[in-house]
Amino acid sequence: MPLLPDHLITGYRNFITGRYVSESDRYRSLAREGQTPETMIIACCDSRTAPETVFDAGPGELFVLRNVANLIPPYEPDGEFHSTSAALEFAVQSLKVKNIVVMGHGRCGGIKAALSHGAAPLSPGDFIGKWMSLISPAAETVAASTMMTTGERATALERISIRYSIANLRTFPCIKILEDKGKLTLHGAWFDVSTGELWAMNKQTGDFERPDIS
Ligand SMILES: [Zn+2]
Repeated sequence: MPLLPDHLITGYRNFITGRYVSESDRYRSLAREGQTPETMIIACCDSRTAPETVFDAGPGELFVLRNVANLIPPYEPDGEFHSTSAALEFAVQSLKVKNIVVMGHGRCGGIKAALSHGAAPLSPGDFIGKWMSLISPAAETVAASTMMTTGERATALERISIRYSIANLRTFPCIKILEDKGKLTLHGAWFDVSTGELWAMNKQTGDFERPDIS
């Protein structure tokens, strides 16, 4: 039985003899001085939407949190297990990131699940159902919009949920205070897996627009 799947061993061999060699100084300095990423990205677990790939980022550049459908729960200091809130707390209070980007994406399975309310859970725990219930009111409203196609409903909820998560970020006192002081900026982005297009949220209108990359 191999210690790791073959494709991971192959990938690691390519990394350690290629990219690691060319970036070894950077890795050594990051090891010595610690990480100081300016930007935190909250992205989906989806294998097609790695922020480091989309933003061509090297080691130490992005502090990345990934969860199903890139959702931020509201601030709930209730003593329960909150992995997303823990990562936020570390990024904001310890790393003092300047930006938080909530990045959604097209064809999101979590969003699709939220729109197909009543579908059987994947396991008795129904962890996805519980997690996606964070956006239940929006999901129910969008799902009831019979004027839209299935694809339009998915895109709409993918973008609505980004705005919802940004609103929830502001329920964290430390984030609200730093944003009000101008020390932290909250952003929304949406990545289209099929075309590679990146859309960014207009902070005034909440609409998504193509950023100028020329
Ligand atoms: Zn997704």
